[in-house]
Amino acid sequence: MFHAYVLFSESGARAGFGHSPDFDWAYANARAPADLVVITPPVPVAFASLVAHEVDRQLAAAGRARAGRARRQAVRIGLRTARSVLRALGLAGPAFLSLGSTRLALRAHAELVGSRIPPRSLVVESALALAGRSLLYEEAMRALASGGLSSLDCAHDLLAAICAEGLGLLVPAVSISSFGARACNRCGSGGPFAATPCAHCGRRACSLCLRCRSMGSARECIPLYLVAAHDYASPHAGAVAEGVNLAIPHVLTDAQVQAAQMLRDWYIGDSAREVLVWAVCGAGKTEVSFSAMHSALASGRRVLFAAPRRDVVAELEPRVRAAFPGVTCSTFCGGSRGQRDYDARVILATTHQAMRFYRRFDLVILDEADAYPFAGSEALASAVHRSLAPSGKIVIMTATPSRGHLARVKSGVLPCIRIPARHHGRPLPEPEVVTAYGGDLLPKVAEIVGAGAGPGTPFLVFVPRRRQAQEVAKYLLLRIPGARVEWVHSQDPARDDKRAAIAGGECDVLVSTSVMERGVTVDGVDVVVCHADDDVVFDYRALVQMAGRAGRTAANPEGCVWFVCANENWHVRTAVGIIREMNEEAASRGLLIGQHSQETSCEEVTPKWA
Ligand SMILES: [Zn+2]
Ligand SMILES: [Zn+2]
Repeated sequence: MFHAYVLFSESGARAGFGHSPDFDWAYANARAPADLVVITPPVPVAFASLVAHEVDRQLAAAGRARAGRARRQAVRIGLRTARSVLRALGLAGPAFLSLGSTRLALRAHAELVGSRIPPRSLVVESALALAGRSLLYEEAMRALASGGLSSLDCAHDLLAAICAEGLGLLVPAVSISSFGARACNRCGSGGPFAATPCAHCGRRACSLCLRCRSMGSARECIPLYLVAAHDYASPHAGAVAEGVNLAIPHVLTDAQVQAAQMLRDWYIGDSAREVLVWAVCGAGKTEVSFSAMHSALASGRRVLFAAPRRDVVAELEPRVRAAFPGVTCSTFCGGSRGQRDYDARVILATTHQAMRFYRRFDLVILDEADAYPFAGSEALASAVHRSLAPSGKIVIMTATPSRGHLARVKSGVLPCIRIPARHHGRPLPEPEVVTAYGGDLLPKVAEIVGAGAGPGTPFLVFVPRRRQAQEVAKYLLLRIPGARVEWVHSQDPARDDKRAAIAGGECDVLVSTSVMERGVTVDGVDVVVCHADDDVVFDYRALVQMAGRAGRTAANPEGCVWFVCANENWHVRTAVGIIREMNEEAASRGLLIGQHSQETSCEEVTPKWA
């Protein structure tokens, strides 16, 4: 529990809040004479924070209170404001024996408290141990204890000292605004919140953020500590950076080399803080992002590589380790058992885990920015941005930019680097739109699949809804005798086995919801999107992703894609338009095989831009 107080010093009166006002008073006194008057009983930290905020506003209106009568006036303002704020929040007002007693009690404890004041060197060392992180009280306490910096019961004092020195910021995990709205300071979301019984503060209704609950409970009674990173580009960091080499195990394509060069130029020289890397599905954009990462690491800076999906992050780690030998690298995933190294120079994390950081990274690479759950999540976007150092930069990588991103590119606010060609240098398969007026699409689908499916030519048939997966699969089983047909959706416990079956050739036709829209590579696959005009589920971005499953491998770079629908709507036209435009750009830039020699020497191990 926390108290709000008014602190009087040479520079006047200001409101504050703390777990232990006598410690805060003693800490302030160790630097300059100060007086402190407590204005609330112990209350949840969000309440104390709101009282302090409101009192500060009132004090600013009343002018500075240096001495005598003005001080008594400031105390009256503090008590009156505290009473009205707490009453508005449903708590009784301050219950003190008398005003003088709170101050006297503090003085009596002065000597006792004085021994609790940690030396400044310990405070600075502790702040460094937490640098660049956003921590709930429990997490901060454990981090300090595990670093040998504090025993568990002294962590409150050490954290208060870090904040008093201006090295960290104390905020409620869930704060309350002047007009009573809750906001989560950990994930940045405005809800939803649940008022549940709380073991921490003992109240029956304590606001809990439901958005970030999977990361540990953020509540209005739990303090959150934000400790910014300091001076990473120090001489020490420079020494580390000398050893940063980039080793990419295969030769990059011309499209990748051009994009990598542009990205590095942007990182070093461009004033824009964000850049969009728009790559076709299967272009190899991860290797391209390594160019900016290399520039950042070589100048002693820290990098976060974040992606919404856990499997993408897991698959990334060996590639990053291979590309940057000798650079420390740690993976943060929900449920990952491995040791987390907050000090690693490269951190790979799901976008949720970005909430654990505060102003730490000089470069953030955000992969698959269009994928669930990142797309459309204000909370995750704010978490990723908050993990960025004040002068840091962010690379947004996607195969299918949102309309918001496209509008910002068009208006010139967001620079955009396009990678229009796949790694094998063949154009993207352009979808054929098949319309079945009247809406009876299944015969069309059966006709297409029946004509093509068989060993060596598997089909992925996408449907918008779960129940349709089974319906369509059963229909195809009846109409195409002998075909091995399976269906899958997000709730299917065997979905990984079915993914492996289609990739391994043990299944001819897999009918799937958008669960197979990403991260699936099946050699020689053809794609049918059934109900492509169901724009509640399939927007142009989903359509581009699904079409992008075809022709991904160098062995079978050509594939066929059909969009089967009752009406060719805006999303279908836009998806086809985007694919066509990318192919045209690849051709005009000479990036497709057959129009221009792309052969590069096999001995070339370091990329041209490194
Ligand atoms: Zn939250
Ligand atoms: Zn609580």
